[in-house]
Amino acid sequence: MKKEIKAYNSILELIGNTPLIKLNKITEGLKGDFYAKVEAFNPGHSTKDRIALYIIEEAERRGILKPGDTIVETTSGNTGFSLAMVSIIKGYKCILAISSKSSPDKIDMLKSMGAKVYVCPAQVAADDPRSYYEVAKRLHEENPGSVYINQYFNELNIEAHYKTTGPEIWEQTKGQVTHVVACTGTGGTLSGTAKFLKEQNPNVRILGIDAYGSVLKKYHETREFDPAEIYPYRIEGLGKNLIPSSTDFDLIDTYVKVTDEESAHMTRQLAQTEAIFAGYTSGAVIQAIKQYAEAGEFDENSMVIAILPDHGSRYMSKVYSDEWMETQGFLNSIKEESKVEFIK
Ligand code: PMP
Repeated sequence: MKKEIKAYNSILELIGNTPLIKLNKITEGLKGDFYAKVEAFNPGHSTKDRIALYIIEEAERRGILKPGDTIVETTSGNTGFSLAMVSIIKGYKCILAISSKSSPDKIDMLKSMGAKVYVCPAQVAADDPRSYYEVAKRLHEENPGSVYINQYFNELNIEAHYKTTGPEIWEQTKGQVTHVVACTGTGGTLSGTAKFLKEQNPNVRILGIDAYGSVLKKYHETREFDPAEIYPYRIEGLGKNLIPSSTDFDLIDTYVKVTDEESAHMTRQLAQTEAIFAGYTSGAVIQAIKQYAEAGEFDENSMVIAILPDHGSRYMSKVYSDEWMETQGFLNSIKEESKVEFIK
């Protein structure tokens, strides 16, 4: 009789239950206590592991997915990685349509995880046949028996966070959380978390983050989709050029917009002050916290949870590259001592 060993049955058992880590330096001088929920601790290094596992297992429960079937999705990279990971373990094929805005690192990672990848032009309208939404729809139609995850218009995206992220934050803070700050792309993370937390305590404030060049903040304030708000920007995964039904705008109290440049610098500062090596939208979250603090959102009794969506390794050719920062015109504000010196 073998003794029971301490091991997981597969990598999927490590999804969720990510840690809260106190922010000590980057929020210095701000009123309140700030904690980061670091989603890079998921095995696929992002918050999207949660929705990939939840949506696939829900499709299995409903008898929609059978072994050998195909999963199709549009993705800025993270959802694709998580879907590819779950597909390997569960025996599905995975086809992904990705925006050309996504970093080459992300595209290579998806290939490495066995997915078939289609890179689609970023600067086209959502209803253009070349957009990653339309390409994914076509691939779904061309592959009988495939399941289209459709994270922007799938209520299971919200439900995944309602069942996991929300309860985790409530438990980890012993119900003392006063604010949650998060970026919204599909809106699933913030909406699902908000739904659970507001059911426990309707006074928890839900603070959204949008990008300049995206329609979400204005839609939240006016319920009007304004195409004049749309223009190209750099941050991947934050904001949108359409209104996702995976966002419950009624649950979000307010939004701020953050710039590409300030978010890029905050991403680097987060690594250098807290040693949390996170993605570009994590820097956006820290930048947003500063803007919310400036606007008087927090006081001494605030317990603010910042959801940091993914890992820094996905951005080596972007925010963590001096060359990339220089090309964007962001380099001026990089500290001299953090530049690389080459000894000849
Ligand atoms: N950050 C990154 C890096 C992302 O990929 C996403 C997802 N598009 C988000 C933030 C936003 O999360 P959500 O889609 O749940 O709103």
